Amino acid sequence: MSAAYPVHLTVNDNTNVTIEISPALSVDEVRAALYAAAGYAPSADLVIRLSRPNGVLLPVGPHIPANSADSRYILDVKPGLGALSATGSSGSGALGNALDVVTALLDKVTLLKDKMTVISLDPKEPPTTRKLRDALPPAERTIFDKAVTEHLKHPTFDIWQWEEPAMVDLLVHMFLEFKLLEHFKIDEGVLRSFLESVRRSYNFNPFHNFRHCFCVTQMMYGLLHVTGVHEKLTPLEKLTLLVSCIGHDLDHPGFNNAYQVNASTELSLLYNDISPLENHHAAVLFTILRSPETNVLKPLNDADYKECRKQIIGCILATDMAKHGELMLRFKGYAEAGFSFDDAAHRSLLLQMITKCADISNEVRPKQISEPWVDNLLEEFFTQSDREKAEGLPFAPFMDRQKVTKSGAQVGFIQFVMIPLFELVAKVLPNMEEPVITPIRKALEYYKALGAGPTA
Ligand SMILES: [Zn+2]
Repeated sequence: MSAAYPVHLTVNDNTNVTIEISPALSVDEVRAALYAAAGYAPSADLVIRLSRPNGVLLPVGPHIPANSADSRYILDVKPGLGALSATGSSGSGALGNALDVVTALLDKVTLLKDKMTVISLDPKEPPTTRKLRDALPPAERTIFDKAVTEHLKHPTFDIWQWEEPAMVDLLVHMFLEFKLLEHFKIDEGVLRSFLESVRRSYNFNPFHNFRHCFCVTQMMYGLLHVTGVHEKLTPLEKLTLLVSCIGHDLDHPGFNNAYQVNASTELSLLYNDISPLENHHAAVLFTILRSPETNVLKPLNDADYKECRKQIIGCILATDMAKHGELMLRFKGYAEAGFSFDDAAHRSLLLQMITKCADISNEVRPKQISEPWVDNLLEEFFTQSDREKAEGLPFAPFMDRQKVTKSGAQVGFIQFVMIPLFELVAKVLPNMEEPVITPIRKALEYYKALGAGPTA
């Protein structure tokens, strides 16, 4: 028998477990060992996700690379969509069989308990994690007060007061309010399964998490309403914007493109260093959309589907800030020559610019709502630059905890990125000044008053 070796894991964010695997094990046996490490019996309704600490996914199989206890892989085990659906495929008899498999397997796979390890093999007591605790029954939707749904249309909406299930319901509301389910005959259960699947595919990064996804979508929805441009957009374009914003950072590992490229991660190899993250977000989105039970685009006819897919990919790729200058220049050209809603290229770029605005829109929000995001973003940046230093990789000064101050980071970003972007879009969309641009200018004054730091 080939030599077994230890694989060190952090399971569902809270438990350290070390398992021993052997190259002689089959894929199913390794999978079952990982389920067991997470305290589950194997089941068709479990989704397993194994990644390196930097979030890069590892294949589940007998050739998981060996690692050390101080660079544990992250193991995330969560119910699949079958568990959410009343017509899910798991029969109750599967559980007994699964336990037998685990019991048999434990003879082959040694589970070494770390100091803090708790291993449970009782399938009725799965480890509690945020992802699992928030599972939603598909048919129950919160009906929101009119004051809430009206406020939802405005950039001042308080995005902190909602838990994840409520954010899902608010997203459902946006589809309903645009009458997209009616128009395209999209099943509400499919929409909810889609959103649930999306929610579970966002990681727990300080910044690039499901709440950021909700914020971006809500700001896009708010921008459409305050400018009234939703009345000029087709249902397909509104669907495009909603799905793009919802999917735009899916499975973000918390380390940016520069890191992906410099560290030669799997993502940078897969996408040849070309917007590796944005390509990944779009690919994860369309993977979710490939399953019939989560495919909100299924009812579209072929021509609409093709158009929608093309536009969504365009919107998501446009969120790579490396493309910022080029997109600004093109949009400026359109705006100066006379923006035309009759021109498909103009409309398409407008969707991308709206997505970009929404993505970096935190400073449009009132200070008490926007400020915590700055801390979260800096935390994510600092974690990255710490790792880059540790790995001997180049690191950006704007991510260096020794060099950056909150005010310094914000002044430069607001002044040189946000204001020019929003002012340019305001040349095409009406009514941006008071609800959108004035708050950004106030934020600039606020951070200037706090004192410009070294990067300003
Ligand atoms: Zn984003």
